[in-house]
Amino acid sequence: MSASASPLRLFVPDDLRSGAEIEVSPDQARYILQVMRRSTDDPLLLFNGRDGEWRGALVHTGKKTATVHLNVQTRGQITEPELILLFAPVKRTATDFIVQKATELGVTAVHPVITSRTNGDRIKTDRLTAIAAEAAEQCRRISVPQIFTPVPLREAVANWPAGRVLFVMDETGGGDPIAQIMTDSAAQNADTAAFVIGPEGGFSDTELDLLRALPFCRLISLGPRILRAETAALAAMTCWQALCGDWRHPAVK
Ligand code: SAM
Repeated sequence: MSASASPLRLFVPDDLRSGAEIEVSPDQARYILQVMRRSTDDPLLLFNGRDGEWRGALVHTGKKTATVHLNVQTRGQITEPELILLFAPVKRTATDFIVQKATELGVTAVHPVITSRTNGDRIKTDRLTAIAAEAAEQCRRISVPQIFTPVPLREAVANWPAGRVLFVMDETGGGDPIAQIMTDSAAQNADTAAFVIGPEGGFSDTELDLLRALPFCRLISLGPRILRAETAALAAMTCWQALCGDWRHPAVK
């Protein structure tokens, strides 16, 4: 490894503690050894979403295996503020983009919801979880958002937790400007936020009436233009983190 290369970060399911020897998955071994050309004694950082981040070194490598010996915890586990995204699946590439960018923007749970106009490709939860893990590795998070299996919109908003706001991204112009909503005290003091984004064909009138009638829903506008679902998801969560989220919580050290 060149002296300037930073240690690779990998998400693993194993418990992490000093002295542990962790055998990474065959895909991760291939990535470490063949793609990134790392070798014995090169440092790596492992995290599992429970035990913080640990620094270790490659100790055994085989054709398709790699084992990391853990030395020291570099960051403790933190409980990240809850940021929840409900979205109607769109085409595969755009759905992948939504999960990747939501992870970079701190989302903690992703709930695909089926609406009357949803025509996205079938959701493969494992695949989206792998995309989220890769994004978490890249952006230095020490947890990976949970990806849930798709449910109908009506079911997703039934039994909604008390006190949690659901920001409904409404492209029809019926929502309040996002900056106005995000700077009011309710949003500023909220510890948890949830967003719902409609499908390529938008929410139906029946769905918007359903959401508008729910006391915990706030309809939001991102401006006069009709954004793609993936743009709307990115824009909404960026505004949230900029105005209500990250600045109030310890920065990623
Ligand atoms: N119904 C529109 C159409 O068929 O052209 C497009 C829907 S848009 C592609 C998908 C979702 O992105 C919408 O349902 C909404 O949740 C969100 N969205 C798009 N533009 C928005 C805006 N200006 N304000 C708020 N949300 C928006």
